[in-house]
Amino acid sequence: MRIERVLAPNPGPYTGAGTNTWIVDSGTAVAIIDPGPVHLDHARAIVEQVGGRKVEAVLVTHTHEDHAPLANHLAREFDVPAYGHQPGPGFDPDVRLTDGSEVEIGDLRIRVVHTPGHSDDHLCFLAGRVLFTGDHIMGGSSVMVERLAPYMESLERIRHLDLEALYPGHGETMTDPYEVIDWYIAHRLQREAEILRAVRDGASSVADILEVVYRDVDRSLHPLAAHSVRAHLEKLAADGRVVVEGQTVRIASEGSR
Ligand SMILES: [Zn+2]
Repeated sequence: MRIERVLAPNPGPYTGAGTNTWIVDSGTAVAIIDPGPVHLDHARAIVEQVGGRKVEAVLVTHTHEDHAPLANHLAREFDVPAYGHQPGPGFDPDVRLTDGSEVEIGDLRIRVVHTPGHSDDHLCFLAGRVLFTGDHIMGGSSVMVERLAPYMESLERIRHLDLEALYPGHGETMTDPYEVIDWYIAHRLQREAEILRAVRDGASSVADILEVVYRDVDRSLHPLAAHSVRAHLEKLAADGRVVVEGQTVRIASEGSR
């Protein structure tokens, strides 16, 4: 197996250097993972990188706009199916994948691992001992989390796979997969503790919490961090630790647990 990257020209605060489009070559055929946004130069760069090789599948980790919208166009161009968990903005999979699905690329089997959390429709792809992580794990930063309890479960799930490397949707590849996964788990637990402490100390809104807990994080990322704070509060409320009423949050009194 050979893996090549084509970096999409969409750098930004949420995407780092841009989206990583991965080309996975089994030796006899290739798969394209996360074609990225609809961008003519990027489409050309992917087609050029593929060269004369036989494409058998276009795979999508999740339907966010920096990963999926080019997929149907590219699949049509190569006359192969586009694969994903479910339809989303600018994407409609020809073949729907669920946990445990397999896609054959030549003699390479790519196994699908459903990893909800960053988004409900998020998939990781396991090829040999390499895991393509999309936005479940990024190279060099934490990720925005939509729903925290499933996200933590999804981290535990990939931790139990036999891995030698992580190939993320943004940032560089990681060859210490278990250290990275453990850092992600520890980071979320730390954020949870910090948010709980902030609420105990008087923070009563998402904005208050951002000011305290994310004071070291660039302000341009605060709108994104707000999603993660809400996800944390939702879990803390479900656990009976805080009470969320409309836009306000407070510590749950012992009696209300
Ligand atoms: Zn992304």
